[in-house]
Amino acid sequence: MTDRAAEIAANLAEVRARVDAACARAGRDPAGVRLLAVTKTFPVQDAAALVDLGVLDLAENREQEAGPKAEAMAALRPGAPVRWHMVGRLQRNKARSVLRWAAQVQSVDSGRLADALAKAAAAAIGAGERAEPLEVLLQASIDGDPARGGCPLDELPDLAERVIRSSDLRLRGIMAVAPLGTQPEAAFERLAVAAGRLRAEYPSATEMSCGMSNDLEQAIDYGSTCVRVGTALLGGRGLASP
Ligand SMILES: *Cc1c(COP(=O)(O)O)cnc(C)c1O
Repeated sequence: MTDRAAEIAANLAEVRARVDAACARAGRDPAGVRLLAVTKTFPVQDAAALVDLGVLDLAENREQEAGPKAEAMAALRPGAPVRWHMVGRLQRNKARSVLRWAAQVQSVDSGRLADALAKAAAAAIGAGERAEPLEVLLQASIDGDPARGGCPLDELPDLAERVIRSSDLRLRGIMAVAPLGTQPEAAFERLAVAAGRLRAEYPSATEMSCGMSNDLEQAIDYGSTCVRVGTALLGGRGLASP
C-alpha cells in the first residue's frame, strides 16, 4: 500500500467510526446510511484507493472532470462495480454526456433539466450505451438561496411529477446542501419533512442525501440515508477549488 493509500484508509476508518457512532446515538442501523465519497479535484488514483477499500459509491460535481475520471477508473479497475453520482450543478447541454458515466444524478432542480435528462437517458438506452434508467434525486433548496442551486420546497411536487413521467428516469429521493453559516439542524429538519412527503407519494423515493464532512452526524440524526464526504476522506481541496 502506498503512503497515500494508507492515509486514505485511516481517514476512511475515522469517517466510518463517525457514521457508526452517529447511528448508534440515533438508534439507526449503519447499513441504512450509504457513504458517498466525493472525489472532485482529486486524482483517479485516490478514487481507486477508495474502491480498493470497498467504497464503490463515488461522486463528482463537474461533468467535465467526472467523465474522464470515470473512464480512467474503468481502465484502472476493470470490472469494479463502481457507481458514479453527479452531485453538482448540471447544464442541460451536458445531459447526454452525464448519461455516459453517471448511475445517479442527485442535483436535479428544474423541470427543464429533468426533461433533458429523460431525453438523454432514452437516447443512451436506445443506443445500447446503458441498460438501466437514470436514478434521480431532486435537489431541494432549503433556504431559497438561488446561488446554491436547488428547487424551492413548494415546487418539489411538480418537479417529482415531471421526473415520474419518464420511464427512463427513476425517482430515488431528495438531496440538499445545508445553508452556509448557520446551524444545519433546522435545515435537515425541513428536508426530512420534504423527504417524508415525497416518500409517501412515491415509494421508490427512499433516499435522503445530506450531510458532508462537517455535519454528517447532524444529518444522520435527521434521517439521512446518504452522506457525501470529500474533505474528511481525501483532505482539503485548497482555496481555488470548489
Ligand atoms: C464537495 C461536495 C461535498 C463534499 O463536501 P466536503 O465538505 O468536502 O465533505 C458534498 N456535496 C456536494 C454537492 C459537494 O459539491
